[in-house]
Amino acid sequence: MFDKVLVANRGEIAVRIMRALRELEVSSVAVYSEADRRAFFAKYADEAYELGPSPPSQSYLNIDRIIGVANLSGVDAVHPGYGFLAENARFVERCEREGITFIGPSSQAIADMGDKARARELMDDAGVPVTPGTDAAGDDDLIDAANDIGYPVIVKPSAGGGGIGMQVVERREEMAEAIKTARSTARSAFGDDAVYVEKYLQDPRHIEIQVLADGDETAHLGERECSIQRRHQKVLEEAPSPIVDEEMREEMGAAGIAAAEAVDYENAGTVEFLYSGGEFYFAEMNTRLQVEHPVTEFVTGIDIVKEQVRVATGESLSFAQNDVEMRGHAIECRINAEDPLNDFAPTPARIEHYRSPGSVGVRVDSGVHMGYTIPSTYDSMISKLIVWGRDREEATSRMRRALFDYVIGGVTTNIPFHKALMKSPDFVEGRLSTNFIENHPELFDEVSAIQEKERDLSEIFDDRKSRAAVAAAIHHRDSSG
Ligand code: ADP
Repeated sequence: MFDKVLVANRGEIAVRIMRALRELEVSSVAVYSEADRRAFFAKYADEAYELGPSPPSQSYLNIDRIIGVANLSGVDAVHPGYGFLAENARFVERCEREGITFIGPSSQAIADMGDKARARELMDDAGVPVTPGTDAAGDDDLIDAANDIGYPVIVKPSAGGGGIGMQVVERREEMAEAIKTARSTARSAFGDDAVYVEKYLQDPRHIEIQVLADGDETAHLGERECSIQRRHQKVLEEAPSPIVDEEMREEMGAAGIAAAEAVDYENAGTVEFLYSGGEFYFAEMNTRLQVEHPVTEFVTGIDIVKEQVRVATGESLSFAQNDVEMRGHAIECRINAEDPLNDFAPTPARIEHYRSPGSVGVRVDSGVHMGYTIPSTYDSMISKLIVWGRDREEATSRMRRALFDYVIGGVTTNIPFHKALMKSPDFVEGRLSTNFIENHPELFDEVSAIQEKERDLSEIFDDRKSRAAVAAAIHHRDSSG
């Protein structure tokens, strides 16, 4: 086992990884930016080093500085978490050169899967079903291909991620303009303007397979459904998927394993599929730990981060495929500092009051605390609220209760949005698609009703305010009486 591992990330995922390291009795090293001087993860680590100013280019994306700390502190390995350098093949190569173990796949597997157009080709060759579509090509070829595939189509950056730059095209006449937009967005976001075209699937469901590989064996831990998305970004995930039965799980699991083996994948990864019209299609592979990994941990009992560390030391997976069983149901709500009624715009602020839920079947992965100011420099996630129940119904009612229990004062959050979702009959029935939020505008009326009610309640509960209200009432009575 390693003696010391550097966690090249921040926030909740840094804490999550350090907790696994603590269980494995491995020392942890944190790196943090100026904005994160007071963050919990930097205090939780056994050692912590400041990287520099807050912009990621000068801190969490600064390979030289991170490698510098790794060498200075004498770590055996680096865990990248998700985002930042997690899927950066150059960083992995640098670790390989410096003799530092990267807790993740090889730079080659990252590069193969990082180019989405190339990944589609590799998957097709490996017999994994892919969405009808093209390779990256010139404008005219893309337009011809789109005409053949039939509209609507989706234009996607090859180097894409986070839903950035994707353009849905309904009509032939809009194609040239959409390609132009996609290319220019891709150029500024990824420094690469290659784009390709796929058939746009109607109301698909996003279902993904968690894989873990140790170099000899590749196993899958079943699926997660992540159809509830805003701007193509996940907000709620669950395991298992309400529509996947044992037979489909086996089929998708085998496709996930085939996808991973096609690039000699090692460590943890996720093969994402879109499911539409009774068929599933490969969308992409995320070559890293994912935000939503806890729902799989809840239903399988397997600690994915510990498996990652174990595999990176050269050990085998601690379980065999036959041991994997999905028990019960888990749901994760991403709790973000954002305003659901203002197009989910970020609302970073100071957390004036904080009480997180607990009790049976509840897990909160967070990097925040009372008095913590959410920086505006990074993403808006505050925490992840994850619940387990014996079945989906119990998990849903437990999530309702946990959301009720969760108090985050001083910050506008999406908790009211999750509360509204938990009440939505289509959600409760498991009728999901990636267009769920667009197709349910009534959710926002519910959010505004919930916000109003909570404002009233907080006035009653907020001592200072209620005392002021009583004083004002007395004053009013006295002066008018
Ligand atoms: P990214 O890597 O940018 O996150 P993905 O390829 O994973 O992009 O797609 C993100 C989301 O965009 C999917 O979960 C789905 O909601 C939507 N999407 C992507 N491709 C298609 C498609 N061919 N048809 C319909 N929706 C799609």
